[in-house]
Amino acid sequence: MEEVNLSYKEVVEKIKSKKINNILFLTGAGISTSSGIPDFRSPNGLYSRLQKYNLEYPEQIFEINYFKKNQMPFYEMDKEFFSNKPHFTSAHYFMAEVYRREQLLYVFSQNVDGLELEAGLPLQKLCQVHGNYRGAKCSKCGFKHDIIKYKEFVQQQVIYKCESCKRGAVRPNVVFFGERLDKEFAKNTYKIAAADCVFIMGTSMQVAPFNLTVDKISKNVPVIVVNRDMVYLPENKYIHLKNDIDDNIEKLMTDLGWDFPKIERNYPPKWFSGSSTSEKNEESDEEEEKQDKEKIYENQEELKNIEQKFEDLNF
Ligand SMILES: [Zn+2]
Repeated sequence: MEEVNLSYKEVVEKIKSKKINNILFLTGAGISTSSGIPDFRSPNGLYSRLQKYNLEYPEQIFEINYFKKNQMPFYEMDKEFFSNKPHFTSAHYFMAEVYRREQLLYVFSQNVDGLELEAGLPLQKLCQVHGNYRGAKCSKCGFKHDIIKYKEFVQQQVIYKCESCKRGAVRPNVVFFGERLDKEFAKNTYKIAAADCVFIMGTSMQVAPFNLTVDKISKNVPVIVVNRDMVYLPENKYIHLKNDIDDNIEKLMTDLGWDFPKIERNYPPKWFSGSSTSEKNEESDEEEEKQDKEKIYENQEELKNIEQKFEDLNF
């Protein structure tokens, strides 16, 4: 990536006047934070309730070798996942709106929730690199199973044994740690070079190989990062809209003159409440941000824990 000299205002103007017509999105967990999806690691989150399974570390629940031996933690997590009715966020809506305005090239999402589709994005414009919940298969022989039936077993908290080999446990078509990414990912990465504008939303781009996608972005293409925290990209090569993602996206759509529905934020984690307003984004420097945080979180120790949680959320 080369240095990009366009300002936020210039990018907005180019999108508005349709001089930018091939927008690409690289997204992660942060865009679904306010959707109502339960937070895995919040103090009362699922992980605290999974302690009974003696997981060595939280991510173990997503490891395929662990799943093959012990499916219950994953099934319990999925029960919670299904019992919530997550709603798409402003970030999902924005991507669908870019599509409706015929300015979308493609979306690469690290999320398995599929909320992009709920917001109106067609499947052919989306690659969920970590898989999805549209299908299920045997963890041993790979035989395809009905996701509806999988959900029924999850609801009952009974392990769904493969109907073909009778031995493996059925799991959704998400990518576990230790498995290859969805093959659609490699097949579609060529599209990145064709983008005339790239949005990186809700991800700190730390996870390989997803983070390698930025190397494929063409020179002089504006890159807009919409992420609460820092992103692991070379500095001054992108426009960073910090703080709350929904606030930033709603401000962006307002700046573009686009109508958008008021989307309820179902699950703002407690530590979000009372934080940023959209006005702040323009001049948010590090010091100001720090002071804001201090105001909100009187207890410094708590702040440290929270920041750690945010880092962890992006695994
Ligand atoms: Zn099987």
